[in-house]
Amino acid sequence: MAKVREVEASLVTEAVRGLFFKANVSIGQDVYNALVHARDRLEESPLGRSVLDQVLRNHDLARDGHVPLCQDTGMALVFIDLGQEVLLVGGGLAEAVDSGVEEAYREGFFRKSIVTDPLFDRRNTGTNTPAVLHTRIIPGDRVGLLVAPRGFGGENVSALRVLSPGQGPREVLEFVRDTVEAAGPEPCPPTLVGVGIGGTVEAAAIMAKRATLYPVGRRNPDRRYAELELRTLEVVNALGIGPAGLGGTVTCLDVHMDFAPAHVAGTPVVVNICCHAARHAAVTI
Ligand code: SF4
Repeated sequence: MAKVREVEASLVTEAVRGLFFKANVSIGQDVYNALVHARDRLEESPLGRSVLDQVLRNHDLARDGHVPLCQDTGMALVFIDLGQEVLLVGGGLAEAVDSGVEEAYREGFFRKSIVTDPLFDRRNTGTNTPAVLHTRIIPGDRVGLLVAPRGFGGENVSALRVLSPGQGPREVLEFVRDTVEAAGPEPCPPTLVGVGIGGTVEAAAIMAKRATLYPVGRRNPDRRYAELELRTLEVVNALGIGPAGLGGTVTCLDVHMDFAPAHVAGTPVVVNICCHAARHAAVTI
């Protein structure tokens, strides 16, 4: 019988707390480098370059002063890869995560943005919880945590379409292009675009969300999808929306696609847009 590793729920709480502290005040080095590259090499509009410069300066001030880099400190998104040989002790998983989120948002003075129910009371929960939790059971005895405070500029303009079996790469590209065009300045470009293709509608949405968290420059291992990513990136940047939507050649820093086997009768496609404040942090316990 496989040995079980006991992990205290308080360890998860502490890790989640630390990750949200970090993620709310800084972006990953890959996104930072991409913004520098866009400012120095790619953006042709002087106004666009100036916006990128301000974005980078804002980031440096936030990181050095340990203050949020955007006023919207987002909905707390947490991906957990839970080893099947882990036994969580001393509390439940969701409660442990929510405690970490609550502590980070309270102690960091991060804005709390979550309301109790979406249609009626819309009372702020006051804790920025509950987090949105996606859990995968994986082999082994580790707990992988990936957190992302997700602002709603990008969520508000994300989109779902179910393609018919006769539709293919061209329709995916056009759907992404149309979604980015309709979004205009709202998701605070330059953005990262995640595209989930296949599975069911909710599976495609989770794939699209995960895809926004891939490192800038990462290409899909399948050459056909990698080429589609690059073609789509070119097409959306040709829209001319530019940094902050003020015109320019860098609307999007990268497009990441993920796919899964699909039903013969249809192919769900979800386009999830993440703003330039592409915040996330990860740790393994
Ligand atoms: S879209 Fe991003 S950068 Fe814009 S306000 Fe929301 S969190 Fe901030």
